[in-house]
Amino acid sequence: MKVVVLVGGVGGARFLQGVKHALGPDAEITALVNTGDDVWLHGLRICPDLDTCMYTLGAGIDTERGWGRTGETWTVKEELAAYDAGSEWFGLGDKDIATHLVRTRMLRAGYPLSQVTEALCARWQPGVRLLPMSDDRVETHVVIDDPASGERAAVHFQEWWIRHRAALPAHSIVPVGAEEATPGPGVLDAIAAADVILLAPSNPVVSVGTILAVPGVRTAMVKAEAKIVGVSPIVNDKPVRGMADACLTAIGVETTAEAVGRHYGARTSAVGLLDGWLVHTGDRAVVPDVEVRAVPLLMSDVDATASMVRAALSLAGVPVE
Ligand code: GDP
Ligand code: CA
Repeated sequence: MKVVVLVGGVGGARFLQGVKHALGPDAEITALVNTGDDVWLHGLRICPDLDTCMYTLGAGIDTERGWGRTGETWTVKEELAAYDAGSEWFGLGDKDIATHLVRTRMLRAGYPLSQVTEALCARWQPGVRLLPMSDDRVETHVVIDDPASGERAAVHFQEWWIRHRAALPAHSIVPVGAEEATPGPGVLDAIAAADVILLAPSNPVVSVGTILAVPGVRTAMVKAEAKIVGVSPIVNDKPVRGMADACLTAIGVETTAEAVGRHYGARTSAVGLLDGWLVHTGDRAVVPDVEVRAVPLLMSDVDATASMVRAALSLAGVPVE
């Protein structure tokens, strides 16, 4: 079975664990990973979603935090703070920095991000092919009223999300560079060859939305043979973790499973994608021309997540035991 999954960071990585668990070692799992959160800090290229997927699937993740390395230390971060070097709000762990050093050196030597990711994964063996959505630089920016000047300003998504905890209302969220980006190597082929395509319960705006903003991806998905099933990140009218509600508000979508399902839309419509939409037990959603099913959607452990994945595959018409 060939499965393609669109993912962001923590929500996506946990969902991928469930995909692996549900399908076993014979499945060919390809994750199309958001790179709109990527950022340059202190001369290092940081790819939060790729690293969260790589560490989670490679058993290197700090499971409490959900991001970064287990057994992490923070000496470099403390030293940078002593220099007042800026960006102190970003969690830059010592072990993590080694990953960023290797990545940055390879990028500077001319390797595309997709090849760099493959090289990093040689160590972590995630068991899932992690494909950056694009090798081109795409950076999500958020337009806010700058609290210092009161002027309208665009800041990097990471600054809004981490430094401001997404508490400053976003006027808009823009994947800068997306229009000129091309899908990464293997992305369109994986979509065309898939037996099923899943949208992880990742942030619909700044994770899945950014991947879909890369020209060609959405069209390839709609044209694909495979059924497309999405999993709601919104349970009981709230994100399960994080501040996805602030992103949805910025694009004028309510924070409900139904509104997110309608935002993705039916594949039969001119602009939509979905054949099926999974919502949490007790959540009601009517999405025209999309088959909606309700099952428990809390990824409390890998078994629970694998059950969600089996429900998604069954909705897509490719059930597994
Ligand atoms: P990020 O890049 O680290 O922010 O992670 P993602 O974009 O991949 O996933 C974030 C989304 O995952 C949030 O909107 C959460 O609501 C969702 N999420 C996290 N845990 C769960 C869970 O257990 N169940 C469901 N349904 N969604 C979850
Ligand atoms: Ca992310």
